[in-house]
Amino acid sequence: MLEKMQERVDMEAVMEEFESLTMDAGRVQRETLQRILEENGGCEYLSRLGLNGRTDPQSFKACVPIVTHADIEPYIRRIADDDGGDNSSIITAKPIPAISLSSGTTQGKPKYLPFNDELVENTMQIYKTSFAFRNREYPIDNGKALQLIYSSKQFKTKGGLRAGTATTHLFSSAEFKQTLRATQRPCCSPDEVIFGGDYHHSLYCHLLCGLIFRHQVQLISSTFAHSIVHAFRTFEQIWHHLVADIRRGSLSSRVTSAPIRSAMAKLLKPDPDLADAIQSKCTSLSNWYGLIPELFPNVKYVYGIMTGSMEPYIKKLRHYAGEIPLISADYGASEGWIGVNVNPALPPEEATFVVLPNVGYFEFIPLDGGAAVGLTEVEVGKEYEVVTTSFAGLYRYKLGDVVRVAGFRNGAPELRFVCRRNVVLSVNVDKNTETDLQAAVEAAARAAAAEKVEVVDYTSCVDASSEPARYVVFWEMSGGASDEVVEECCNRLDRSFEEAGYVAMRKINGIGPLELRILRRGTFQKVMDHFVGLGGAVSQFKTPRCVGADNGKLMQILAANVVKSCFSTAY
Ligand code: AMP
Repeated sequence: MLEKMQERVDMEAVMEEFESLTMDAGRVQRETLQRILEENGGCEYLSRLGLNGRTDPQSFKACVPIVTHADIEPYIRRIADDDGGDNSSIITAKPIPAISLSSGTTQGKPKYLPFNDELVENTMQIYKTSFAFRNREYPIDNGKALQLIYSSKQFKTKGGLRAGTATTHLFSSAEFKQTLRATQRPCCSPDEVIFGGDYHHSLYCHLLCGLIFRHQVQLISSTFAHSIVHAFRTFEQIWHHLVADIRRGSLSSRVTSAPIRSAMAKLLKPDPDLADAIQSKCTSLSNWYGLIPELFPNVKYVYGIMTGSMEPYIKKLRHYAGEIPLISADYGASEGWIGVNVNPALPPEEATFVVLPNVGYFEFIPLDGGAAVGLTEVEVGKEYEVVTTSFAGLYRYKLGDVVRVAGFRNGAPELRFVCRRNVVLSVNVDKNTETDLQAAVEAAARAAAAEKVEVVDYTSCVDASSEPARYVVFWEMSGGASDEVVEECCNRLDRSFEEAGYVAMRKINGIGPLELRILRRGTFQKVMDHFVGLGGAVSQFKTPRCVGADNGKLMQILAANVVKSCFSTAY
């Protein structure tokens, strides 16, 4: 069986290539920059910067400014809007064929980004590399994958370019699909389910397909861990409908899409034995612990991005997975790929990503000040903001992510994802990042554990409408908690922000008492619906951890769903 897989991905060759690329990371970086600039140096964006054909890192750094998305947005707009579709020579020599919409949960709305075939190639290289290492540790044989993946809405831009999330472009690429089959096994669900349009229907059918092929399922995956947790939380609510469909051999009328219905009709037939088996699992499990291996007895691992803003879902995922390993997937963005997880056996909280030096040209701005340094000049233990130069027309582009250098693999750094750069709660001199918020929520949530209530999801904002301004944290909980417990959670939250600026300002009332607002069940589902409505995809959804004052719609959703609120008395 394993040989069959090796036919599809030549694992030895992939690993050898990885070793040789990382061994000589400095040279590969210089060559990668040279290739990018030789190919695209004549485009409008670069030619006005005075490179005059030079392709070395020093000239590049001297001539090309470090930019953010806002700086290049006018170029991308023109690419999206240019009538006739010939957008060549604006940011790349070749025309950009498609526009990606980033998940946009940090800024409140999706960003437009260039997408081209080079990004598909990079994705395949990354997938094959991490698969080779993963499969050595956790071999899978011929089976299927329950891939909880979804396409976003797709539309044409004014200039006639395809627009959708990067994952949607990838799922539509025939070449990429082959790689996905080879590295993650054939998907249980037919394409009609992935591209179904309405993700509630897609999710329902993904689960149904998974159950139909339950003995063949060898792995469960999605782009981000959130989608996996969301799927099994939904399963808890709807399993009896799924069982009824299997018993009857026909799809519930709740799924209305005609293409999905006809694709599912080919898979469904009355199967009372399967229905009984699933029903008995669902009624005998204690609090759904170990649900995944119970439903899928041959599953080898659960795979998806579990780092960064996905960490808060690991605990719930472990609960569902029981003893089945969780493996964190690679590090990339709609802008391009960065690194690959070649240590799949590490627990997801410790996952690192080795930068592949041929997928882009990378620079790192030290968080403690100083100029951007090259890939091989980073120091172990230090934190940096990532700057990328891609084959898709981004030059010295700040990704907005903070990483820590955990070590080196050959000559290439192994990065640990720390947080998004701009997600900070700050009223005054205080600065609390996404990671600080996560730690505070985890510490405070322990006070609710006694009543067997969990925090399903959370976000935060600064409320400056009162004097002094204060932090507001929003929680959706899995059940009703008593007022005493909510008060205790609120006080613990306030005390758990241990950053010196915050503590000092709280003591002198320069920052007001923290407010904890409890949200109605299902509020974060509404938040996700909102982002999906803006063109995002469930597969790329990340709960925004801090809501800016400019994000009126999101604020409205939260405000309309507050069921309880309480102020800290911790100081
Ligand atoms: P998107 O906006 O949907 O393109 O998402 C890209 C962003 O997702 C990155 O800039 C990171 O902030 C985050 N991300 C992607 N991969 C990982 C990972 N492995 N660990 C943590 N965060 C990640």
